[in-house]
Amino acid sequence: MCTTYLATEIIREFSELDMIHNPRLVRLNPNVPWKTRGNGAVSIQFGKGTGKSKIIGQINGKNIKCYETGTGTRPTNEHFKRACQLVDKLAYFDDEKTNPGLILTDKKPPQGLYWQAVRQVVKKNPHLKVANPKFHKGWKNGRGLIGSISATAWRPRDSTYEVIAYREQKKWGKPRKIDIASVQKMDKSIKTTFNNYDYEEKHMAIMPSSPCPILFGIRGDAEKDLHRARDIVESEKISRWLIFLTNQGTDDHIVQGSISSLEPFTSVKVRGKVASVPRIIEGGHLIFRLSNGKKEVDCTIYEPAKGFRRGGEKLRPGDVISVQGGIRKEPFTINVEKLYIETLANVSEKVANPMCKKCKKRMKSIGKDQGYRCSCGAKARENQAEFSVVKRELKIGWYEPPVGSRRHLAMPLKRL
Ligand SMILES: [Zn+2]
Repeated sequence: MCTTYLATEIIREFSELDMIHNPRLVRLNPNVPWKTRGNGAVSIQFGKGTGKSKIIGQINGKNIKCYETGTGTRPTNEHFKRACQLVDKLAYFDDEKTNPGLILTDKKPPQGLYWQAVRQVVKKNPHLKVANPKFHKGWKNGRGLIGSISATAWRPRDSTYEVIAYREQKKWGKPRKIDIASVQKMDKSIKTTFNNYDYEEKHMAIMPSSPCPILFGIRGDAEKDLHRARDIVESEKISRWLIFLTNQGTDDHIVQGSISSLEPFTSVKVRGKVASVPRIIEGGHLIFRLSNGKKEVDCTIYEPAKGFRRGGEKLRPGDVISVQGGIRKEPFTINVEKLYIETLANVSEKVANPMCKKCKKRMKSIGKDQGYRCSCGAKARENQAEFSVVKRELKIGWYEPPVGSRRHLAMPLKRL
């Protein structure tokens, strides 16, 4: 169903325990073919809180708080049963991609398990063996266990927050009511938030399009600001809300790569020279070749990334760029999430055929790549035509897709 909504139900169920730190929403490898939509997992730490506490949400009118420090609670069989019952009740098992996993543990799995799962394709059993949680359950093929283990293993190197607001249950599946002007106002006034609104497409990126219980989610760098941001947005009634700590917008999935050694289903950053004039293929996608002098790879910019694609169309052979993105296997290509233009090549184009010096007339083309000839018999080579330097419309710097077409993990330029 919606893993973050399940998190709110788990928090409600275990209200006799304190929550230590914010609940965590952890996104994993976006290139895994059998993932659910956003490939997200949630982890929550329960125990006995000490030190300062803060309000991080509200469920059915009751404030939810968490502590900055505390001691964990030893998981019991009874905790495990109660948590399993919630998954049983809420998961949509009919969906073939719904394969939930749940772990309860009092020792944090090694962080390598997180880095593997955000960057590679991993198998369930080796992950489970290393983490060795006190309790675990996998429903159906149990692949969700990889997510639950990896989310628990995460030690944030970089992190952001997301406040998620949920709808009343009777409205699930019906059109959402959010005032568009209030979203624009929030976007403009709360500078630490990102990926809110696409001004070109007039699209509210904070609002999901699926029939899930989420009304909206606002992402940002400052937890404090998200309270204000939530207040500014005018909408239908919010039945509950919760602030998660997340790895969204961190680029944690990207590794420095080389065009010579690219592995499908991973995400890389590679540098090279544009090696072909970009062309548009069926579906409106844009493809160009990128070369490191030894090898070449196709790079694809997808049609929904409209403004981004228009920028990509202006690339020309010889431009030195870096691209970031996921590697697709069939067809083998880098799906571009972001690109950096380092240098622009000098591009010239033919403006006129060569002039015959004797007749003072323009020569005619003999055929493609075969040169020119005048009616008097004089000949000229291809490169003797008249060329002029084309004014490049691109600028040096970073380019990214509009807010509605970005990956959860991709770092927006606003954060860079
Ligand atoms: Zn002539």
